Amino acid sequence: MADRLANAGVQFVKGIGPRRATLLQKLGIDSLKDAAYYLPFRYEDRKNIKKIDTLRPDSGVTLSGKILSINSIKTPKSRTSIFELTISDSSSAIKAKWFNQPFMKKLFKKGQNIVITGTTKLNPYSPAMLELHNPEFELIDTGKDELIHTSRITPIYRTTSGLGVKLLRNIMFTLIERIVAHMHDPVPHEIIDYYKLPGLKESICNLHFPEGEIDVNKLNNGTSIYHNRLSFDELFYLELGLTKIKDNRTLDRGISFVEGGKYFSKLMRGLPFSLTNSQKRVLNEILKDMKSSAPMHRLIQGDVGSGKTIVALPAILNAIDNGRQTALMAPTELLAEQHFYNIKDILKGAGFDEGMEFCLLTGKRAEINSDSQGVVSIPDLKQSISKGGIMFTIGTHSLIQESVTFSNLGLIVIDEQHRFGVMQRAELRQKGANPDVLVMTATPIPRTLAMTLYGDLHYSVIDELPPNRTPVETIIVNDTQKKSVYDEIGKEILSGGQVYVVYPAIDENEESSLHSALKGKEGLERMFTNVKIGLLHGKMKTAEREEAMEDFKSRKTTILVSTTVIEVGIDVPEASLMIIVHAERFGLSQLHQLRGRVGRGVRKSRCILLAYTPLNEIAERRLSIMAETSDGFRISEEDLNIRGPGEFLGARQSGMPDLKTAHIIRDSKWLEIAKSEAERILSKDPDLKSYPLLKEELNNFWRGSIELFHG
Ligand code: ADP
Ligand code: MG
Repeated sequence: MADRLANAGVQFVKGIGPRRATLLQKLGIDSLKDAAYYLPFRYEDRKNIKKIDTLRPDSGVTLSGKILSINSIKTPKSRTSIFELTISDSSSAIKAKWFNQPFMKKLFKKGQNIVITGTTKLNPYSPAMLELHNPEFELIDTGKDELIHTSRITPIYRTTSGLGVKLLRNIMFTLIERIVAHMHDPVPHEIIDYYKLPGLKESICNLHFPEGEIDVNKLNNGTSIYHNRLSFDELFYLELGLTKIKDNRTLDRGISFVEGGKYFSKLMRGLPFSLTNSQKRVLNEILKDMKSSAPMHRLIQGDVGSGKTIVALPAILNAIDNGRQTALMAPTELLAEQHFYNIKDILKGAGFDEGMEFCLLTGKRAEINSDSQGVVSIPDLKQSISKGGIMFTIGTHSLIQESVTFSNLGLIVIDEQHRFGVMQRAELRQKGANPDVLVMTATPIPRTLAMTLYGDLHYSVIDELPPNRTPVETIIVNDTQKKSVYDEIGKEILSGGQVYVVYPAIDENEESSLHSALKGKEGLERMFTNVKIGLLHGKMKTAEREEAMEDFKSRKTTILVSTTVIEVGIDVPEASLMIIVHAERFGLSQLHQLRGRVGRGVRKSRCILLAYTPLNEIAERRLSIMAETSDGFRISEEDLNIRGPGEFLGARQSGMPDLKTAHIIRDSKWLEIAKSEAERILSKDPDLKSYPLLKEELNNFWRGSIELFHG
């Protein structure tokens, strides 16, 4: 809509002037174009208005009639004032009542035409009579008014004080009439024609003042063809931008890593198991990216336990073979520690005895893998890293600190990416010169969401679990059958298994109504006097935590009582039973991650969800989904359904432009189309030279986020 008039301020339109312009600004309407995209939040079908004598109780209705009488009543006892209108149409009459709104009196005169919308209620004193309580209303003049406000599907706009609903609708009518005369469609018409979408002008007109046979329900839930058109536009701009960001990166010069160096080869010969086909495929994709001169930006998605670490490790060694430093960033200290000790074991097993130094650096701890050095001081370690003395650093957010510098960082691996924001990824990247970036996530997100959230990344999926895993059986038990849970723990231990018991809190102080890890441990100790029980939570010191983990891995302890710190990264294949206490308190993704700690070995594993009643409906639904499936993608889809995209994405600050009309789940079909069209157009015309209007609109859409076109 690249027309100067479209961007002109609304105050220049006849009949608006500075005062109304200020009010419109409050609604975010500065220009004519803003007005075009200021869509009604609701529509009322005033074409098919019901007759009063056909009404039934408890239904939402819009009526039109004349004011027959006006009445104010004060009930001295309850101190309520009631304002009452009797409204008649050609069939009958009905009362509309407003409670405690004395100012209403001034608004009406007998004989006025009125449209009211509300829900019919039975009058408590004479149940044969229907009435409306606090309905919405509009007074209607005859003539032009009827055209705009009644006898049509009428738009209802959100407004602000000082700007009545009807006045705003009148203003919008003028503005829309004005703007469509000046609108140009920036989206290539071959796309619009091919997908049988309506034109932009036609869509804007019909979204504000619908004409013809339009289903008012579709208008109200945002699925009319006119909504589709605007949603498509937004998604198209979004995907054009994401594709452009991706393409621009291939112009950057990164590092061309040469494959087959000594550490890489040694690891590949000495892996403790053979990689699954999925792992092999993904590793090849990574190595291909590393070879290329463009910097890698790849996301590895794989369900819990699919074996992502072992795919990242060869990439890390490949970078080191090329004389480049690498950093592996994990979201929690515990996970960083576990990576450090696991990788140490894997490398030892593959015959790396000494020679390749790597380290752990968290806010609390600095440690080097070599047996001679072990724990070192944090500043000393930072210095070695910055001088390039240590080639591989595993850490937490602490790696982003200013005081951490690298001498030649060539590869970054971010584990559990969903726990970090886009900004943190960028900050770590800044520590090298166009390093390769590999991000891994175990939160499977629906494809459509991945396409927007991770749309700027290349994407690999490990869609296969390592062999010999038996699916985890999931059982829901409520608190009245708590004793049976102890029985199961006993049986599991007798048959040689190990058990996790997870609590939502460390101690009772945190939230007094919850069972906690400390108390829970005492209870278990009384019950199982011959069994060693470990404890793990976030407030323990690193060394204590490490000891607790080591004890559980080496079977010194048989039961591990913990909080949700074990949600990510913990890997003890012998553990075959997990009890989640207060399972009703946890979200779906979290339950899925927790359950992923069992079923990692050959033992048949079970997960008991111990729920405290009464359960609300949502909690019940979550638990039954858990019992039904272990497919991470299904679970996250359900999670998304339950929570909605906003909350699902939650803290994840996406750094993406806002979508106003489009809804990535509802409009997923259009998202797919937008993506393929964006890729097609940019591959034949990367600078959009033949599409000047589109380019301008695209820049507007991404303004403030990123510059897409250089020069
Ligand atoms: P993720 O991080 O994807 O949840 P991990 O990398 O922690 O998974 O791996 C889970 C477990 O599976 C580890 O014990 C790992 O050693 C094991 N594992 C990974 N790949 C294979 C494989 N191809 N064959 C057998 N075991 C594997
Ligand atoms: Mg992992």
